[in-house]
Amino acid sequence: MQIIEHWIGGKPTAGESDRLAPVWNPATGEEQAQVRLATVSDVDAAVQAAKTAFASWGQQSLSNRSRVMFRLRDLVERHELELAKIVAAEHGKVIDDARGEIVRGREVIEFACGITSALKGGFSNDISRGVDSYDFRQPIGVCAGITPFNFPVMVPMWMHPIAIATGNTFVLKPSERDPSASLFIAQLYADAGLPDGVFNVVNGDKTAVDALLDHDDVAAVSFVGSTPIAKYIHERGQAAGKRVQALGGAKNHAVVMPDANMDWAANQLTAAAFGSAGQRCMAISVAVAVGDAADELVGLLKEKAEAVVVGAGDDPEAEMGPVVTEASCERVVSYIESGVAQGAEPVVDGRGLQIEGHLGGFFVGPSVLDKVTPDMDVYKDEVFGPLLAVVRVDTLEEAIDLINANPYGNGTAIFTFDGGAVRTFERDVNVGMVGVNVPIPVPTAHYSFGGWKDSLFGSSHIHGHEGVRFYTRAKVVTSRWPKHTESQAAQLNFPTSS
Ligand code: NAD
Repeated sequence: MQIIEHWIGGKPTAGESDRLAPVWNPATGEEQAQVRLATVSDVDAAVQAAKTAFASWGQQSLSNRSRVMFRLRDLVERHELELAKIVAAEHGKVIDDARGEIVRGREVIEFACGITSALKGGFSNDISRGVDSYDFRQPIGVCAGITPFNFPVMVPMWMHPIAIATGNTFVLKPSERDPSASLFIAQLYADAGLPDGVFNVVNGDKTAVDALLDHDDVAAVSFVGSTPIAKYIHERGQAAGKRVQALGGAKNHAVVMPDANMDWAANQLTAAAFGSAGQRCMAISVAVAVGDAADELVGLLKEKAEAVVVGAGDDPEAEMGPVVTEASCERVVSYIESGVAQGAEPVVDGRGLQIEGHLGGFFVGPSVLDKVTPDMDVYKDEVFGPLLAVVRVDTLEEAIDLINANPYGNGTAIFTFDGGAVRTFERDVNVGMVGVNVPIPVPTAHYSFGGWKDSLFGSSHIHGHEGVRFYTRAKVVTSRWPKHTESQAAQLNFPTSS
């Protein structure tokens, strides 16, 4: 059985732990490898490697740092298929979908290639007579990333290219469910010429996470995962005096107005609800049908959900793979059961799906429940599987009130041709990322990604310019160059500009 180790100080390392966790093949239900779960001293070794490397990496020229990013970008592009296969094997998503996350992650590296522009400071000439002022940003030290299973390449890439390009060093603690992609990226960084110790990977569970949160030499923590853990990370990291950005879970609603192009909307919702088996933080899990939209929309959703081809991630015909673990599969099934028990109407039921040749796989088919109401558990909780709940409302205002009353605020979308409705929606909805006839409005890398309410703890969104600010701190210099012979009497009043 393969044992997946850590990457510390520029090389694979077993560390000292004998605790192991299984890594499943979700398409077969078999244990395909084991991952080592780091001890506190393994984490300390990674942080010490990063701290040592920071002393020189933080001093490298901007252009040297961006050159590493250019090389990494090309390597990620060249190895895209290989990496996608690793993702598909451990996560379960289909290979084309895995390629999609690699491309979106690569966009953040492309943003980091332009770090020379992103780090340009300001200069003010003569803010007072003979006095100039300017600012610049400096790296903060060792930064940690703690990431979820659902995007094992893209989500870490929301963090490390920007942290590293701005001059920091990085310790990544990926999800223990699909750890191999991060080790592959570590090798690509080494091939791109990144000095040893700048990028490190420690595999592990809560022990490793807590060790990072408590470590005196970790300056900042970026977290992406479920809401309860995001809240915990934020509180514990802040209490230890660190910068923390912690992105949490989601319950994303798509509003479909009666005037929408219904076929377009149904296709977009099908893709956004069932792509990656619904295991995306920006997946649409609630369709809010306004007025007359409902019957036509539900009819189309049924047709399209039933047409989705489900299979193993490496099956070229498959559009949707299994969910990540047996427990996830059982969880989705239990929410379908509870929804039906609480009065929802099953339109498409994915329970009991069997895929030939993969009978042990963690499969649950696309599922649609109609007439879901906000008091049902299937509405209230983040299910994180291929289950779309349809809630029927009478007006746009009712749709907005529904979304605003929901504790999550990651993404949302509206489908309509009515510009006035869009304007009201995008201004009144309390959600961080809004799509207009676009179901998964994940901002591109030069914008920043982040939800509101229980979808984000901390004040900083991730990647883009907010990412640059998160990983750096500003310094403002006020300078004056008197002549050697010049003299000025001591003035005890508070200095003002003259
Ligand atoms: P998770 O919260 O279970 O795990 C995320 C990370 O936290 C993992 O590295 C895990 O090892 C660690 N962790 C888990 N339990 C812990 C504990 N008790 N103490 C300390 N660390 C712990 O999330 P997941 O199941 O891997 O991922 C799915 C979740 O992530 C969903 O809720 C999804 O919405 C969310 N997510 C959010 C975004 C976003 O941008 N907001 C993006 C992707 C995923």
